[in-house]
Amino acid sequence: MSLHKIVSPEIVNKYDVNVPRYTSFPPVPNWKTPPKAQEWHQELQAALSQGVHLYLHIPFCRSLCAYCGCFRIDPGTVTTTSAHIVKDYLHTIHDEWELYQEKSGIKNEHLRGIHLGGGTPNTLTPEELSFLLSKFGDTSSKLLSIELNPHTTTPLFLETLAKLGVQKISFGIQDFDPTIRKIIGREGDYESISEIMNKARSLNFTSINIDLVLGLPGQTLSSIEYTLDRVASLRPDTIAYFSYAHVPWFAPLQKGLEQHHIPVGSEKLSLLLKLQERLFSQNYIHIGLDHYALPSDPIAKAFADHKVIRNFMGHTYTQAGTLLGLGASSISSSKNSYLQNEKDLFKYMNTISQGQLATIRGHQKSELDRCCEKIIQTLLCYHTFQGHEELRQDFSSYFKLASLEKLVTRLLEFRSDGLLEMEEITTTHNEQAAIEKILKLKLTYAGVIFIRNIASAFDYALIDSTHAASTFGRSL
Ligand code: SF4
Repeated sequence: MSLHKIVSPEIVNKYDVNVPRYTSFPPVPNWKTPPKAQEWHQELQAALSQGVHLYLHIPFCRSLCAYCGCFRIDPGTVTTTSAHIVKDYLHTIHDEWELYQEKSGIKNEHLRGIHLGGGTPNTLTPEELSFLLSKFGDTSSKLLSIELNPHTTTPLFLETLAKLGVQKISFGIQDFDPTIRKIIGREGDYESISEIMNKARSLNFTSINIDLVLGLPGQTLSSIEYTLDRVASLRPDTIAYFSYAHVPWFAPLQKGLEQHHIPVGSEKLSLLLKLQERLFSQNYIHIGLDHYALPSDPIAKAFADHKVIRNFMGHTYTQAGTLLGLGASSISSSKNSYLQNEKDLFKYMNTISQGQLATIRGHQKSELDRCCEKIIQTLLCYHTFQGHEELRQDFSSYFKLASLEKLVTRLLEFRSDGLLEMEEITTTHNEQAAIEKILKLKLTYAGVIFIRNIASAFDYALIDSTHAASTFGRSL
């Protein structure tokens, strides 16, 4: 089907606006104040029986990629790759864990899983990785996952991961086209990457993911076809694509990318539709905003069982009720709170060495926040409220505090723009009848493309507005 039959240029212009990505609710720029340390420890302690998932942030990279907006350390400004800084940082993560053990009563047995993200976790040597994980008890019984740069991953590092019981590995490919890789400063080529992925296959990891980025400078339909041909030959278990956000005021290296053509609007949408067409024809199923999985992958089963969630790591599944982030810039999230650690490496290390949490910001969720979070999470993960009868109560609570009339007005506009299917709501006065209709709402193919816009109608801060502040990226 042609692009314009799916989404007209008018709809692209109307909805390709700034909206949050909703990796948290409220989104980070709308956070107010974090809980006090004692309150946070008490909340953690009370939720320990529901388990805890750890996120460990490794901020080091061998070199910087021009498009990247992640928190990572510039190897040119501090000699962070020198062994003693890495060693001190790993010891500090251990100290932070001890602080939590002492104040919250958390123990290794409460851990359900550990994710290592970055930066580049594979800047650690196999010995450093083993040392880091040695603090958290028997790792073989936990869900372990890690992000890797394929260009700098060695066979020995992969063997160490397998020995430690890591099940999910994720390779940051971004694009296979050599021209695009050169523009964005990403080293490595298809041959060397496929070699390391074949090595990973031979070690029987449960799930191998690759990350791609859409909308990179220089990308065209033919360059994306080139990448997708190579993705097909590697047949990863899951694929996640991220939309390139051009934010040079936040990520100054991106300024240098402006000499190249950056696809936006309908042009960027055509890249996404090509990606979807290819992945659907290869039997991948669409999960949430930007994840695709083979039906055999554990996340596909979790999706069928309604156990997929969205958090700072993207879409994932975990049995734990709390995500606890350790390391510089890491974010923790629980039923009632969010907290983020100090981003400055040395400030983070100094604060922890003084026996204090290194929190720089956070948020205590209100009842309205919790309702919006559940509603938005469900829509972003499943594209519908059907089968989620438990939300009836959340909608009732939501409408005690937010306007049903405003929500219905926005939903009807999405419906008339062909973005969702929903029965006509003739009166906004019968709340229960409206809720029953909203619970049957389902996004269309075009609606899934603009899912963040539709989610924003359930965001009380944006209920009156079609777009958010420019601190948020555009929806495409
Ligand atoms: S994309 Fe990954 S490897 Fe490149 S600078 Fe960002 S965190 Fe480092």
